[in-house]
Amino acid sequence: MYDKNMGSRLSHSFSNREIAKILADISAAYEVKNESKFKIMAYQKAAVSVEHATSELKDLWDDGKLDQIPGIGKNISSYLDELFRTGQVRHFNRIKKGLPPAMFVFLDIPGVGPKTAYALAKILKISNKGAVKKLKEAALAGKIKVMENFGEKSEEDIIEGIKALEKGEMKTKRMLLPYADMLASDIINYLKRSPEVLEAHPLGSLRRMVATIGDIDISVCTKKPHEVMEYFLKYKKIKTVLEKGEKALLRVILLSGQQVDVRFSLPESYGAMLQYFTGSKQHNIQLREFSLRKGMSLSEYGIKKVQSSISKKFPGRGKFKVQSDNLKVKSFEDEEGFYHELGLEWIPPELREARGEIEASRTRKLPKLVELKDIKGDLHVHSDFPIEPSHDLGESDPKAMVEEAERLGYEYLGFSEHNPSSSKHTETQVIDLLKRKEEAFEQLRYSAGESRKSRVQKLPINILNGLEVDIKPDGELSISEKCLDLLDFVIASIHTNFGLNREKMTKRVLKALAHPKIKIFGHPTGRLLEEREGYELDWEAVFDFCLKNKKILEISAWPNRLDLPDVLVREAVKLGVKLIIDSDSHHVDQMKLMKYGVSVARRGWAEKEDIINTLSYKELSDILLK
Ligand SMILES: [Zn+2]
Ligand SMILES: [Zn+2]
Repeated sequence: MYDKNMGSRLSHSFSNREIAKILADISAAYEVKNESKFKIMAYQKAAVSVEHATSELKDLWDDGKLDQIPGIGKNISSYLDELFRTGQVRHFNRIKKGLPPAMFVFLDIPGVGPKTAYALAKILKISNKGAVKKLKEAALAGKIKVMENFGEKSEEDIIEGIKALEKGEMKTKRMLLPYADMLASDIINYLKRSPEVLEAHPLGSLRRMVATIGDIDISVCTKKPHEVMEYFLKYKKIKTVLEKGEKALLRVILLSGQQVDVRFSLPESYGAMLQYFTGSKQHNIQLREFSLRKGMSLSEYGIKKVQSSISKKFPGRGKFKVQSDNLKVKSFEDEEGFYHELGLEWIPPELREARGEIEASRTRKLPKLVELKDIKGDLHVHSDFPIEPSHDLGESDPKAMVEEAERLGYEYLGFSEHNPSSSKHTETQVIDLLKRKEEAFEQLRYSAGESRKSRVQKLPINILNGLEVDIKPDGELSISEKCLDLLDFVIASIHTNFGLNREKMTKRVLKALAHPKIKIFGHPTGRLLEEREGYELDWEAVFDFCLKNKKILEISAWPNRLDLPDVLVREAVKLGVKLIIDSDSHHVDQMKLMKYGVSVARRGWAEKEDIINTLSYKELSDILLK
């Protein structure tokens, strides 16, 4: 196996996480050197963007498409090009010159910023190797509190930070769903190019479309497992092979650092294997108990009839004694056959979480889950129209986004840029900006109509002029009545002051939603996956309010939001609260991420009727534009 450091390949591989760290280091170096705020921010933004990217940067570079990543301009793109070609960036080396290398290690400690990291490395003269350990020793020996600008409190904070880092290092970060999906799709596409591969699927949490994924598992159906194993070993993104098992398992580490397990199965038993390794563990436990009651035992190879009897000693405790074990295993080519054998309907993987799906399947009451093809539009995209917003501006031209919406087969597209910043503008200025936006969109509607005339088969796409308005801490909206009147529709979201208690937060949200113009509550829990928990809300009160006042909760398909989370979607669906799935795209390429929002809805048992952007434009306007 080759290693990226051995130079046996023409290019060098770096995972997105490694690249994000390199960029964040440059931002920190600029900060220590008191460079312009603009430069510091640019690298910070690029680092965050890379960390959340849903494609491997190395792949984009291979295809010459590095500029597709939002936040990566010409300059940074050319530096990354050098990185992939030579393994380093001379310009970055110059920027970091004179700074102690240990400072970049210290940046990983929670609560330690660039200037602190620099001071610690420099004054304590800590070298790169074992830097965190040495810093901890220095702190415990009381060497930090006596330093200038440091004190007792900062020394304690640093010790706490190091402890948190040590804990965090043991549990590796999970991947965001779209990223894991991309890695797996690439492998599956590769596998399917072999004529010996009959089928290949993701397994485990990825097949169930869980919001974050640990390792990637993939199943392969083939008559010639050994040949396909050899074929897979030639996959160019493998860094090391951990296990080449006798048990039809290959375990590898990719160049990007992720572990992948590939399992091989013969066609006659593929269904049982797929079912077994899709999980969830809890679903399979319940299914096993259910089957034992029917005198059947399950395994990754199939179903076996057994004579079971509930232990007389512990009735009702679910203890089973398997008395006869030597009957033949019945194998299954597909999962449908497997579930049917148990007297069940096939259960979609997204539902296999031990949340009542077995009973629903037995009684033929499984939901008819919403599908991507049911989605008729997206009402939350940020264009680059210069609206001087309170938060980030989108990066794509509205026209490009309309064209993408047409390509996706949508009937409507709603633009919901952040509201113009209220601290930097007077009301008149905000009105002026909104009027200019409306004029621009009128133009856009006209030109979209004109260009459509040449393509007669296209249905007209309806362009809605909306806004994503901040909910202030007191529940007021951040723009005035007069401004709201200029818009087709408004999404209200929380982007600041996440720390309010449950009671105050609930009041804040309900006050904002009570406004007649507000129909949609954006990314309702405010969580950022792998970053921060959502704020606290009294969900019973929120659901109740939405139901009574016809307010709609958003399911944001944004990769590190997937918010409303599936468990709350399920509650909303049970109560009859309506939902909308939006992409929250800030770039035209992100609009296709809608499918991950759909998967959240499916995991929450949502049907087409629960989701308002499955409605036709006319039906939607009745709800939204009144
Ligand atoms: Zn938002
Ligand atoms: Zn947004």
